Amino acid sequence: MIPGAFDYHRPATVEDAVGLLAKLGEEANILAGGHSLIPLMKTRLASPEHLVDISGIGDLKGIAVRGEEIVIGAMTTQFELITSHDLEKHLPVIAETSRLIADPQIRYKGTFGGNVANGDPGNDMPALMMCLGATYAVTGPGGSRDIAARDFYQGAYFTSLEHGDILTEVRIPIPPADHGYAYEKLKRKVGDYATAAAAVAITMADGKCTSASIGLTNVSETPLWASAAAELLVGTNLDKASVDAAVAAAEAITEPATDMRGPSEYRTKMAGVMMRRALERAQSRAKG
Ligand code: FAD
Repeated sequence: MIPGAFDYHRPATVEDAVGLLAKLGEEANILAGGHSLIPLMKTRLASPEHLVDISGIGDLKGIAVRGEEIVIGAMTTQFELITSHDLEKHLPVIAETSRLIADPQIRYKGTFGGNVANGDPGNDMPALMMCLGATYAVTGPGGSRDIAARDFYQGAYFTSLEHGDILTEVRIPIPPADHGYAYEKLKRKVGDYATAAAAVAITMADGKCTSASIGLTNVSETPLWASAAAELLVGTNLDKASVDAAVAAAEAITEPATDMRGPSEYRTKMAGVMMRRALERAQSRAKG
């Protein structure tokens, strides 16, 4: 199908992009990799009159270690997440998750920033960012501000971004080198969004879990941070009873829709299965 008519703009700086968005008003939309927005435009579910393409803004690209954090520019592609040495060394779960997104063609164009800013509960990066305690840096007409990933998602396609805001970068605390991690995703076929998925990050010492964080994908209107479930694991040796209790706590906060990926009850159970598998793999990777 063919999108409606629109005017195309390609600013060279964040400042110019913010100015353009303010000037053009509500009928203008940001274009990043286009792999969520363009399909919506083709089906006329979105009909922006102006597209502000931010792919020409060099400052929005790249991955760097800055102090105790990894900083990822919003226009970094999902493919670049897979090939980054800094991420491989400090946060390998990001590449693991990126490999499970869509297919290579989409990962070459689709951006990290578009994935987290879009607000689609089916996107894989948001739950991982909640799990890792990421912070989103945003610049808009009123200046710059930080928003915690855990506070960012308000509803399906509804986030803390105001019109004219641009997500510029994401900062993620570098976890201890001996942490365990995993992202487990159930999908109907390669290239599909998750029926349910879970991100887990833990640390272990002397066989006991010393910290845990869990994110869940596509089992609610927003990605979920399963903090109560994670708390049930801390101080345990991840024995079956403790894991069963944590899985039940995580399942209890899910509210998946019944859709072509299965009935709601099934998707809730699959969230639990993905979390259990992610925990097992994270434990096998944790060094403590
Ligand atoms: P765009 O499509 O350009 O933008 C998406 C939205 O975010 C737009 O509203 C745009 O205005 C806004 N936006 C983009 N960047 C910014 C920014 N920096 N600041 C503020 N707002 C911004 N994703 C998954 O996670 N898992 C999957 O399994 C998966 N499967 C897919 C399968 C198919 C067939 C397709 C077409 C897509 C799939 N995707 C999947 C989505 C893909 O990862 C998208 O690339 C991603 O969701 C959006 O990134 P983008 O750069 O393409 O953003």
